Amino acid sequence: MRTVAILGRPNVGKSTLFNRLIGRRRAIVDDTPGVTRDRLEGICKLGAAEFRVIDTAGMEAGPEESLAGRMRQVALQGLAEADVGVLVIDARAGVTPADAEIAAGLRRQKKPILLVANKSESRTAEAQAAAEGWSLGLGEPMAVSAEHGDGVPDLLAALRSLLADAEAEGPTPAEGEERPLRLAVVGRPNAGKSSLINRLIAEDRLLTGPEPGLTRDSVTIPLAWQGRRVDLVDTAGLRKRARVEAKLEKLSTSATLHALKMAEVVVLVVDATMALERQDLTIARLVLQEGRALVVALNKWDLVQDTAAVMAEVRHALERQLADLKGVPCVPLSALTGRHVDKLLPAVLEAHGRWDKRVPTSALNRWLEAALERHPPPLVQGRRVKIRYATQAKARPPTFVLFANKPAEALPESYLRYLATGLRDAFDLWGVPIRFHVRQGKNPYAPTPQG
Ligand code: GDP
Repeated sequence: MRTVAILGRPNVGKSTLFNRLIGRRRAIVDDTPGVTRDRLEGICKLGAAEFRVIDTAGMEAGPEESLAGRMRQVALQGLAEADVGVLVIDARAGVTPADAEIAAGLRRQKKPILLVANKSESRTAEAQAAAEGWSLGLGEPMAVSAEHGDGVPDLLAALRSLLADAEAEGPTPAEGEERPLRLAVVGRPNAGKSSLINRLIAEDRLLTGPEPGLTRDSVTIPLAWQGRRVDLVDTAGLRKRARVEAKLEKLSTSATLHALKMAEVVVLVVDATMALERQDLTIARLVLQEGRALVVALNKWDLVQDTAAVMAEVRHALERQLADLKGVPCVPLSALTGRHVDKLLPAVLEAHGRWDKRVPTSALNRWLEAALERHPPPLVQGRRVKIRYATQAKARPPTFVLFANKPAEALPESYLRYLATGLRDAFDLWGVPIRFHVRQGKNPYAPTPQG
């Protein structure tokens, strides 16, 4: 059963939230003395689905070897057993240094974490927590009152979606083990997807030896590159379909969308002997819109005469389609001869690294200051929009919050595009989507030392 762990400082309302989630259905009360003391488990029913909830011991700041440090370890153990963590902060107290320390520890666990600003009964508390909570780098804080039930339906909806993602990601890896990178290969019929996948498997075999029980139609095919595991997802029937079906079939958008949702990085295979078609460009755009990292494989390079011209043409077409597609990595290769196929997985791993990147807050704001100076935001009703502060709210894909003196609508799309391009340039974020949230409000904190 999928599991959610509730974490946070003492007295932020973890137990109240726990009780709110499980209602009267507390199934297991684990009061074994020792390590698991202070830990409660229960079942939360969500429509037809249900999940386990763990209430962990309160976490406090303090050195590793102190009692506080050991208690933190116990709480983290709860998270290790869970698929999703819920970090609870007290909206009335705001973000404390202990919250920041706990959040930094949780980010290192690489588990999806939902940030809850509890005790948000009043509008001021809500606003305060929402503004400050972003600084924890765990995404958008959800204002909740565990005591009164406000915001709990939204919390449940968010949990449901995170748990569904966890389902797609497969089992949680053992401690110290990295989760495999999930890669999808998409493209129009005849672009050479099946040939490429077969080639990747063949090359990989040389490195790792055959995997027992691997069937050619399995949905996930495990590969490895220099010790890093890469799972090719959603490959069911890809090769078979290519053989059986008429090659004139239209690309199915729903099938591509499904593959995108399963993956972190997407390789779009295009036939380099033909100009990029509308469908190729639509998929490229879709990949970024869905928040995935994109790598373009220029297949059939063995047939290309004027390689420089084709490369330039492809880049131009991508960029014209969508400004965000500028700088997307393009790997020329031949699935048929195998030439340069070995360049693909390294490019995929690099793309994943950019997608997973966190820009330190201090560097981000230094960059922002210069960018604003070079090209100030537009005037709105004769007054300049001011962006006071930026922080990266989350990675996968990189998502930034801009605090401005005007509501989000005041910043035109074109200005955000200018900032996105600058960010890509400054922090090497090419080929990955960049998201912005604009929040009206004062800079509620000095830059945190997180970066
Ligand atoms: P899919 O529909 O995208 O899976 O495409 P396939 O892998 O079935 O390939 C379509 C056709 O293109 C087949 O006839 C392949 O032999 C050919 N093909 C695939 N990759 C290459 C390549 O790198 N060079 C050349 N010359 N032909 C290729």
